[in-house]
Amino acid sequence: MNKIALLPEQLINQIAAGEVVERPASIVKEMLENCVDAGAKKIVVEIENGGTSRIKISDDGCGMSAEDALLSLQRHATSKIRTLEDLLNVQSMGFRGEALASIASVAKLTLRTRQAEDQAGMEIYAEGGKILRQGPVGASVGTEIEVADLFYNTPARFKFLKAMSTEYQNIVDTVLNAALSWPEIAFKLVHVDEQGEVKIPLDLPATRDELVRIRGALGKNISDELIPVYYGGVNLKISGFIGKPALSRANRSMQYFFVNNRPISSHVLSYAIKQAYHSLLPKERYPVFLIKFELDPSLVDVNCHPRKTEVKFRDEREVYRVISMACGKALEEAVLAPKFEQHNLNYYQEKKVEGLATMGAGLSDVDVVKVGFPHPPEFKTVESRETVLVSAEQQTQMGAAEMENINNNLAGQTEVDSVETRVADTTMTVLGQLNNSFILCQRGNDLAIVDQHAAHERIRYNFLISENENSEKAIQPLLIPINVELSPADIAVLDANKTALDEAGLKLEHFGGNTFAISEVPSILSKSNLEKLLLGLIDDLRNTDGNLQGHKGDLFARKEKILTYMACRSAVKFGDPLSREEMVGLIDQLQKTTFGNATCPHGRPIMVILENGELWSRFGRRYAGFFEKERFGGVNC
Ligand code: ADP
Ligand code: MG
Repeated sequence: MNKIALLPEQLINQIAAGEVVERPASIVKEMLENCVDAGAKKIVVEIENGGTSRIKISDDGCGMSAEDALLSLQRHATSKIRTLEDLLNVQSMGFRGEALASIASVAKLTLRTRQAEDQAGMEIYAEGGKILRQGPVGASVGTEIEVADLFYNTPARFKFLKAMSTEYQNIVDTVLNAALSWPEIAFKLVHVDEQGEVKIPLDLPATRDELVRIRGALGKNISDELIPVYYGGVNLKISGFIGKPALSRANRSMQYFFVNNRPISSHVLSYAIKQAYHSLLPKERYPVFLIKFELDPSLVDVNCHPRKTEVKFRDEREVYRVISMACGKALEEAVLAPKFEQHNLNYYQEKKVEGLATMGAGLSDVDVVKVGFPHPPEFKTVESRETVLVSAEQQTQMGAAEMENINNNLAGQTEVDSVETRVADTTMTVLGQLNNSFILCQRGNDLAIVDQHAAHERIRYNFLISENENSEKAIQPLLIPINVELSPADIAVLDANKTALDEAGLKLEHFGGNTFAISEVPSILSKSNLEKLLLGLIDDLRNTDGNLQGHKGDLFARKEKILTYMACRSAVKFGDPLSREEMVGLIDQLQKTTFGNATCPHGRPIMVILENGELWSRFGRRYAGFFEKERFGGVNC
């Protein structure tokens, strides 16, 4: 007896639906893509009960002829490709021709559509993929598809749905993704809940300005804290925004990738961006970003995932390299010093970094935002401004007339680019030490409170890294090797990190038994207590080892970790009293250090800035400008 039989069409569609229609949000995703492919300028999504009772999507796109409308519900029916060649160069969002058929097979579907050239529209009603009614209808140009009673005929699948609120959340995410991908299309999302209450969680007008859309979709606190990223290669273009470190999240929920406008997810590329932040973010934090890749469709395979949420790049390594490099460059160019502001407390409260949270530390960098997005054209470098700016010390040494002159010059300039002028002066002068932990400095006109450990750690880290990249490393062989007694567990950690330690410049020799000798260290560390340093390093490596295993850049990551720990373990500590010379030396080096005003290699801020204006207002004085003190002779009670 034959055992094999061809499956009926409806069952085939239902099986396909298992892949394509995972949940209400996947229906929304497919239908939104169809609207976009149809050239819609405005898309309205209405949902009931998290999309399980009803999803209706209307667009003002090209619509379909009556014949096409009937065909559209059939499997493998598509207007978007005809040949394999088309598939390899596909520019549209859809191409598989199975979304509508799959959706129709597991729900009750009403389709209304009209093309501009047709007098009447066409309406089709289908249940479980079977067309029950069809006929002409009055309709405006475009398409409206309503999907009701999802999974009514596949109760097993219905049970797999999550709580309404979760399904709803997924739909919001899906619409957000589409809205971020296509700012020039207006999106509206309407939700009716079980009580019949209507909410409009999203109503985004069309815009050409990417940032306006981001602000509408993700909120001002995100859009105000973004750094633009751009790379214009011949085969690959990258544009978008990455969040300042303070925006980082505990998960990847605020990471958006688009490849030729298609929203996709990619752990590998997400990791590439995280790498660009390396020492600016603690390891368990994930940066916020919105990155758009543009490349020739033939260089990317979009047909490797049934829901098209992943793509394969022909040359993923290159994409990885470029994105990491572009983000790293963008971060380096951005000024990252935190400001003393109340509204940015969240991150540190979340992290419970003692002391800092209560002080209101945040990595907000209003400076850059103030000057405008993207790269402000007249944003000058510190050097170019030093010709105009006069330090506080110089001011006191100057005659009144001279001062007046300079003030006038500056006042004149203030009208044109006052912000730039003030942003510029970041020269730091040491005022003193607080609690043997913080170095207080005048920074331009503001007060900078510097975490002495974080600052020293950053200086050492940058030094160690650049030394390490240098072929002629400054390695100090020790005249008398230092013997350290280790436990078998410690030795196991050392073994796992042997090459990385070697490359980081720390040479260890096994003396037999449990004794190791430290014979060489990076010269910057030669004065540290090396036994303590090694034991601390082993501890740190043990704690993070699991996170490093299996990473692509395993050795690199290990080496970087080791250098981070070396920097940390050898830096001045909280509580160490510092002489004035030591502080001046440290601040001096800090100012020459990349990211010197940002964070330590673990991602904690190095300094908090209490702005002059903030200080004035806290003392109940109206701050009118840079030279107010001079204008009013310092007395304005
Ligand atoms: P695909 O998008 O892969 O072609 P679908 O099943 O999603 O497959 O859609 C089938 C066809 O129906 C599309 O190729 C398109 O011609 C038509 N279609 C679907 N939705 C719309 C819409 N909103 N406006 C115009 N045409 C549509
Ligand atoms: Mg489609």
